[in-house]
Amino acid sequence: MEKKELLTKGKAKELYKTADETKLVMDFTDDTSAFDGKKIEQLAGKGTVNNRFNNFIMNYLEKKGVACHLLEELNDHESLVLNLDMFPIECVVRNYAAGSICKRLGLEEGKKFEHPIFEFFYKDDDLGDPMINDNHIVAFGWANRDEIRILEDLTLEINKFLIELFDSADLILVDFKLEFGKNNGQIYLGDEFTPDGCRVWDKDTKEKLDKDRFRLGLGDVVESYQEIAHRIGINLT
Ligand code: ADP
Ligand code: UDP
Repeated sequence: MEKKELLTKGKAKELYKTADETKLVMDFTDDTSAFDGKKIEQLAGKGTVNNRFNNFIMNYLEKKGVACHLLEELNDHESLVLNLDMFPIECVVRNYAAGSICKRLGLEEGKKFEHPIFEFFYKDDDLGDPMINDNHIVAFGWANRDEIRILEDLTLEINKFLIELFDSADLILVDFKLEFGKNNGQIYLGDEFTPDGCRVWDKDTKEKLDKDRFRLGLGDVVESYQEIAHRIGINLT
């Protein structure tokens, strides 16, 4: 489907309108950002890996019964998706301690939680994506209690499916972020699931293979994304 004018330019993707207002073209760019957009670089090939990665994961989740926004892969860096009315919320689930929860609660990185921890964040870079709870979401009219329950249940269900997938490739799924939206009253998984929005470690060596390589300046960012893709069976060619 032919792409028309730019609708949204985010930090890693661009969304374009199409002739059909219910569909958008999602273009995965090579732009890579961290620390709420304060560190930005271009990493050649990242857009392609992420497009293919995301499509593999969304197809995998659809087969498990999760409604996803993906309609069709158009080329190596663009896909057609359902136009969603996005909740301005990030749904995060953590299986191991890493990132912001370590700073917030004084935890040592790598601690495995007895139970996955679910958290909501308000998607606002200027405010540093602050953590929020159900009451903020209802008070601000972003979602009702039933929708909040669905977002949490879906995220935790997706976590189970993805732990299984990553574990079978000798990878640890440490944590990840999802975004959901609505179309015709139905909730869909939107945005992306790629190494840009999750933490994945090698099971034996605990080597970081996700965006922390970029955040921490460890190098081989795209190569590590390709390594995860290869290990879970994604064809990048
Ligand atoms: P950011 O918003 O963090 O800068 P992105 O570059 O990933 O990062 O931007 C993509 C934007 O597109 C985000 O605002 C996201 O909420 C939005 N989005 C993702 N999927 C859809 C969809 N299916 N319909 C409408 N908007 C979407
Ligand atoms: N995450 C994301 N986008 C955000 C914030 C977090 O994709 O705007 C992902 C992040 O990559 C990690 C998980 O959500 O996999 C938890 O992130 P955390 O709260 O630890 O924040 P960070 O320290 O990574 O900024």
